Amino acid sequence: MKYIDPHIHMVSRTTDDYRRMAQAGCVAITEPAFWAGFDRCSVEGFRDYFRQLTVVEPARAAQYGIAHHTWLCINPKEAEDVGFAREVLSIIPEFLDAPTVLGIGEIGLNKNSRNELEVFALHLELAVQRNQMVLVHTPHLEDKRKGTLLIMDAVENAGLTPDRVLIDHVEEHTVGDVLDRGFWAGMTLYPDTKCTPQRAVDILERWGTDRIWLNSAGDWGDSDPLAVPKARMEMRRRRHPEAMIEQVTFGNPIAFLSRSGHFRIDG
Ligand SMILES: [Zn+2]
Repeated sequence: MKYIDPHIHMVSRTTDDYRRMAQAGCVAITEPAFWAGFDRCSVEGFRDYFRQLTVVEPARAAQYGIAHHTWLCINPKEAEDVGFAREVLSIIPEFLDAPTVLGIGEIGLNKNSRNELEVFALHLELAVQRNQMVLVHTPHLEDKRKGTLLIMDAVENAGLTPDRVLIDHVEEHTVGDVLDRGFWAGMTLYPDTKCTPQRAVDILERWGTDRIWLNSAGDWGDSDPLAVPKARMEMRRRRHPEAMIEQVTFGNPIAFLSRSGHFRIDG
């Protein structure tokens, strides 16, 4: 059965990971711009990163029959310097018409700071101006619920419609608010901590399977590029129907991502 991993940072992964994902049924991925494990010190560093995301990774993924897409931004971890963030934002429009760019992301908050909120609002402004979809990162700290509520308020104030915005890294204490307010929700599966495949399936059993997807968010740190197929095994172990497994790991990502006009799964 085919699946999509809609949030994974392949610039940090090896070609072996691409091969294993393809063998497990992965046919498409989306890679939000994020922190690369170190702070970049120039706008040109970001321009190179955006070229890597729009040119290099799609070609690398295609060798394994995986369609690669991306979202562009300066991530919240590097957004404390608002002046620098503005400079990076100014080059993003150069890349938005590239055929595999789906929108702005992953933007959001990390420590819920005032500067992060300002840079978040600048990204939302760009998304409105250029009619872009948005993928949002929510903080992993104990501030997750507060940050998630601040984020949804900012999105609504910017005039974006929630059904073109996915709020990622939801957990038990945020998923209800996100879905109730009309947003899409992403559950990020981590090997040990946070949302394990078991907890993700518990959440699906409680909140249902509409407007929600699963992703690995695999990156340069401790993470598992095969987390989505492992969650599918957990759903099968609990005897959930194949149609439900297919919906959350394939159908829902297609339904949301297709709204960008740039999503394709022909590999
Ligand atoms: Zn991420």
